[in-house]
Amino acid sequence: MGTSPAAADAALVRRRLDRLREAADHAGVAATVVTPGSDLRYLLGLSGSSFERLTCLVVPTDGASPVFVSPALEYAGLTGLGLEGLGVDVRTWVDGEDPYALALAGIATDRVAVSDLTPALHAFRLREAGATHQVLAGPILRELRMRKDPAELEQLRLAGAAIDRVHARVGEWLQPGRTEAEVGADIAAAIVEEGHALADFVIVASGPNAASPHHSLSDRVIERGELVVVDIGGPLTSGYNSDCTRTYAAGLAPARDIACAYAALQAAQEAAVVAVRPGVTCEAIDEAARAVLRESGLDRYFIHRTGHGIGLDVHEEPYIVAGSNLPLEPGITFSVEPGVYVPGEWGARIEDIVAVTETGVERLNNRPRDLIVV
Ligand code: ZN
Ligand code: ZN
Ligand code: ZN
Repeated sequence: MGTSPAAADAALVRRRLDRLREAADHAGVAATVVTPGSDLRYLLGLSGSSFERLTCLVVPTDGASPVFVSPALEYAGLTGLGLEGLGVDVRTWVDGEDPYALALAGIATDRVAVSDLTPALHAFRLREAGATHQVLAGPILRELRMRKDPAELEQLRLAGAAIDRVHARVGEWLQPGRTEAEVGADIAAAIVEEGHALADFVIVASGPNAASPHHSLSDRVIERGELVVVDIGGPLTSGYNSDCTRTYAAGLAPARDIACAYAALQAAQEAAVVAVRPGVTCEAIDEAARAVLRESGLDRYFIHRTGHGIGLDVHEEPYIVAGSNLPLEPGITFSVEPGVYVPGEWGARIEDIVAVTETGVERLNNRPRDLIVV
């Protein structure tokens, strides 16, 4: 894992483990296995990713002590977390021992939830060690992570403000005659300067490239009058992410038909944001954006869901997508990012992060949403 984490907030860890057991109980699982990644960061404050040596937290649903399994060479750097003080049964292992048997010793394994991004390497070996009936832990952890607490909301507000400051400066770098990659390098540096731990993604998609929603950067030279989609974000040191898209016109306002289509997109994004309030379903927010584009015959160019949850992951539950009847609740945070993508020609997207409040919606990104001529 390579990090030397600060002591975990004991009250917070206990509260989250209690909620995990409760959600696991509702899901009818005997234990939940969580490997390194944002689920483990959420539960224990421990960042890092999975390697070939097994590290995991096993939380029995019946209230028995959680078990933390760690290679001895990794645990040397993790003692500062104070896991023993939290009542966690720490079991270290050395190369040559079987960490899977160690993880499951004394644990009821009739139905075990395994965190979604666990490598198959570990999931299969846990199965061989006795966890034969595995289910995904995603639906369980979603119950915890989806509704943000006030401290998490504050981190997401700070992240939103930081990426807004970067967008405010895009005109300094985005000019006709420069390549997407040159503009992207300047933006990446500003993402860090404005308070992020790193620039996680930088999309500068010009002209026909803007019709590819996940285009990143290329050596294409931006031409005067083209639309440029700039979709950027990254984590703060707390791990909470920003993600914001604005569409710029390079040096010159676009032709009338494109300007009209952009106006419809802006109206679609606004309609989806103002529809946000507790009780409204995720699919209703998606439909609010899509309906506006349909009126202009542009819905066939909107080729992805309207948004995704955001927190310790850039993309997490809930997804704002047709078929999701999940009702919004206060504390849920997600993107509202409709786009129009005309293959081979042009594209545009507008993306804000929003938080569901007790009565409606709070926008965490606040830059103007008009087509900005730079
Ligand atoms: Zn995306
Ligand atoms: Zn997004
Ligand atoms: Zn984005």
